[in-house]
Amino acid sequence: MSVAEQREATLQQPPTLLPPLDVLRHVVDVHCHPTDSDVTTEAMDTLAITICAMSSRPADQSLVRGLANAYPEKVVPCFGYHPWFSHWISVSPNVTKEEHYRPLFSPSGEHQKMFERLLPHLPDPIPLADVLAELRRNLSSFSQAMLGEVGLDRAARVPIDYAATPRELTHFIVPLEHQLAILEPQIDLAVEFYRNISIHSVKSQQATMALLDRMRQKHGSKWHRISIDLHSCGLSVETWKAIEKRHLNVYMSLSTVINGRSPNHRALIEACSPSRILVESDYHPVERCAERTWEMVLTVAEIKGWAIETTWTEDLRAEDWGAVRRLERNWQEFQKGNHEVNPLRPVARQTP
Ligand SMILES: [Zn+2]
Repeated sequence: MSVAEQREATLQQPPTLLPPLDVLRHVVDVHCHPTDSDVTTEAMDTLAITICAMSSRPADQSLVRGLANAYPEKVVPCFGYHPWFSHWISVSPNVTKEEHYRPLFSPSGEHQKMFERLLPHLPDPIPLADVLAELRRNLSSFSQAMLGEVGLDRAARVPIDYAATPRELTHFIVPLEHQLAILEPQIDLAVEFYRNISIHSVKSQQATMALLDRMRQKHGSKWHRISIDLHSCGLSVETWKAIEKRHLNVYMSLSTVINGRSPNHRALIEACSPSRILVESDYHPVERCAERTWEMVLTVAEIKGWAIETTWTEDLRAEDWGAVRRLERNWQEFQKGNHEVNPLRPVARQTP
């Protein structure tokens, strides 16, 4: 959803009633994009929850850095390159635009013209080595920083001009092999620094499964020290269950913005282990992050049959915990990492 669409949608909806501040301050929005919109001091000063602020492309890494420096207790900075911008990055250094983009999209026949129109709008390719060097700097500067938003997307078509509204889309999709070539070294860095990851996965269920298996095998015990969040999770219930069982360090988070549109999210919440679920807004205007995240807290509470805290009491028996306390505990376990290792069995054959 674009910023304009989000603003529009926000105006049309009556505000969701938020709980008292002593409850709200235990809520964590595990995935949002505040720097995609104007972040005002007022909005940040009144922000009552913790947010995980994602970056996605070259321009916003420093914005997230700035936000985290200004509000260290409220912002978990997340650095990384989103699959929608992965074509801007070239694996080999010193290549021209033409040398980088033409083989990437291999335009033929009728798509030639489209490619000629697109090329002037595309930035000079950024060498992967530069991207990784900056990511390394950012992860070393913030001990709490995560890798995000990164991932795989086999549905996103490259727009002629990302900044234009409405966006005119081409037929080009960034090939999965290129997405992986940009993603995997970022994940390697996250593992090296023992950092958690926020992953975007759209129309890439099998590729995501294979990636998790490969990373687990490649990184061995180090892999289990970190946690992975499949954000705005759109997997089928079957795929999620398989991942949940196979990878004890993988969590799912849901948003009303993305998941609320599909009835599948209720089935996913139902299927998800109560200890592996997180909530997010996936929103841009930070003024609305608490509200959007709270809506998902309410949905999860309803489906899981959890009570909702109306006041905060410190000493409660686990069986009396409400949704906020349970989700907070999940977040703490996510952050702590060091997950149990289960034996890796061959994947059961799945029907398509
Ligand atoms: Zn996102």
